[in-house]
Formats: sequence, structure tokens, C-alpha cells
Amino acid sequence: MTQPTKSPATPRGRFTTATITRREDLTEELWRLWLKPEQGFMFKPGQYCTIGVDGIERAYSIVSSPREKEIELFIELVPPPDGMLTPLLDDLKVGDTVTLRPRAKGIFVLKPTVKNHLFIATVTGVVPYVSILRYHLETIAGQDDESEMQSPGEFNFYILEGASYGDEFGYDEELTKLASEHDNIHFVPTISRPNEEKNAGWTGETGRVNSLTEKYIDKYGLKPEDTIVYACGNPQMIEDVKDRLGNAGYQVEEERFWKDD
Ligand SMILES: Cc1cc2nc3c(=O)[nH]c(=O)nc-3n(C[C@H](O)[C@H](O)[C@H](O)COP(=O)(O)OP(=O)(O)OC[C@H]3O[C@@H](n4cnc5c(N)ncnc54)[C@H](O)[C@@H]3O)c2cc1C
Repeated sequence: MTQPTKSPATPRGRFTTATITRREDLTEELWRLWLKPEQGFMFKPGQYCTIGVDGIERAYSIVSSPREKEIELFIELVPPPDGMLTPLLDDLKVGDTVTLRPRAKGIFVLKPTVKNHLFIATVTGVVPYVSILRYHLETIAGQDDESEMQSPGEFNFYILEGASYGDEFGYDEELTKLASEHDNIHFVPTISRPNEEKNAGWTGETGRVNSLTEKYIDKYGLKPEDTIVYACGNPQMIEDVKDRLGNAGYQVEEERFWKDD
């Protein structure tokens, strides 16, 4: 009797690499980074990639839309001795390479079962929402046979983003512009330290983003039956949003960027 033959192990690399093509610093601890993958890299808006330096790897949600050629990231430094990878990433220059796991991962993606999507973020937690919005708008634009950008159809997007300081939002210009161009996109940045010198001149919303959720749910007339809430970034913010809105009957999707100690 012939034994079934084992197929030879596929020589599939665990890593590929990506080259840094651009970097923009927002503050001393926050920067935007663009990577050119050495081979095609597929992902869904809202997913994350895993990059590494010297064998230390971490997850980073992807800012760019899957239709963009480069992977855009928004990174916050966790200074040494706590942070391991971010100090190494901070030292890298245009032309340097990082390792890139060949597969994107994550289920923090748009759930298209309801009309209203309430996106709540702290600082870099805005990343998956930018990807989702960019992709969604491109898709709508591609469907438009009049070739003019239309309002993105059937969904309403409400983005609440919190930071300590006004220079930490990263994508506030892009989101403010989108909100001014589309009736169904709303963007509210809020700072939690309005009395600090660094925030002098801030005229927008103030307070922690989690403490403002009910105010904006009322303002926009959102209901648990037609709304999904997404919370991304700081785990304490996510816990509080779940307490406030999960207990009020909302479906809350979450992406924690780190574990609460
Ligand atoms: C799914 C997912 C997506 C992520 N996306 C992003 C992203 O888009 N941008 C981004 O900057 N980071 C993101 N992170 C966090 C990232 O993976 C790293 O943990 C972070 O960059 C710190 O890496 P590190 O090696 O320097 O420090 P680590 O060794 O990972 O962490 C050191 C300590 O700092 C804590 N910590 C990690 N990140 C922070 C932070 N931002 N603020 C305060 N404490 C922190 C950790 O819990 C740990 O106690 C994501 C994490 C996950 C799980």
C-alpha cells in the first residue's frame, strides 16, 4: 500500500522587510512614518501590521488605505527604560529598513450592519478610523460616474478624539477637512489639560474623551439600535467607554494598544 506522501514544507519567510521612505515629526514623542514594503502587503482598513527592529516586534495599526502604495503609521514614543521598540524606531532614518510580518491582522474593522459609527480614540488610537474613512471615501468616489466626489452614502461617522495637548492629534487637519466636506462625517477633538500653557489659545472641546461620550450621543441623536461604538487606544479610556455605553445597550468594539498595569 502506498503511503500518503507529505508535501514538502513550503519555504515561506516569517518576515519580509519594509523601507522607511518618509517621516514627519509632530512632537518629540509622536511621529508619522511611511514604509514601502518589499513585497505586496494586503490588509483591510482598521487592521494592524507587525514591524520589528533587531528582533523586537510590535503591532501598529495602519493609517493608510489599502489602495495606497505605502504603509503609513502614527507612532508614539514610550521612552526607555519602559519602551523597547519605539526608542529604536525613533532612531531610524529615511532609507533604513524594518522587518514586516507578511500578514496584516485584526478584527477592528468597520461593521457595516448599522448606519451610525461612533469612533472614539485617544491620540494614536485614531489610526484605524483614518484608514476606514480614507478607504470608504475612495470607494464612494470610485462608484461615482459623474467623477465628482460624493458624500459617502449610507453611513454616518462620528469621530471623538482625545489628547492631553492640541499638538497631539496627528490627523486633525485631515478629519476637520473631511467633516467640512461631508455632512455625514463629524469630528470633535478634545484636550484634557486646557489650563496648561501648552494649550493656550485652544478654542475647541475640553475634557477627557470618555467623559464626553453621552454629550455627543445626545447631540447627534444616536441610539443603541442604529449605532456601533468603537474605542481604540488607551485601555482606561476603553474600559470607561464600555462602562458608560456598553451598560447603556451599545455594541462596543475595542482595540487596546497596551495592557493596563
Ligand atoms: C493592535 C495594536 C495596534 C497598535 N497600534 C499602535 C499605533 O498605531 N501606534 C502606536 O504608537 N502604538 C500602537 N500599538 C502599541 C505598540 O504595539 C507598542 O506597544 C508601543 O509602540 C510601545 O512599544 P515599545 O516596544 O516601545 O514598548 P512596550 O515594550 O511595548 O511597552 C512598554 C510599556 O509601555 C506600555 N505602553 C505601550 N504603548 C504605550 C503608549 N502609547 N502609551 C503609554 N504606555 C504604553 C506597555 O503596556 C508597557 O507597559 C498598538 C498595539 C496593538 C496591540
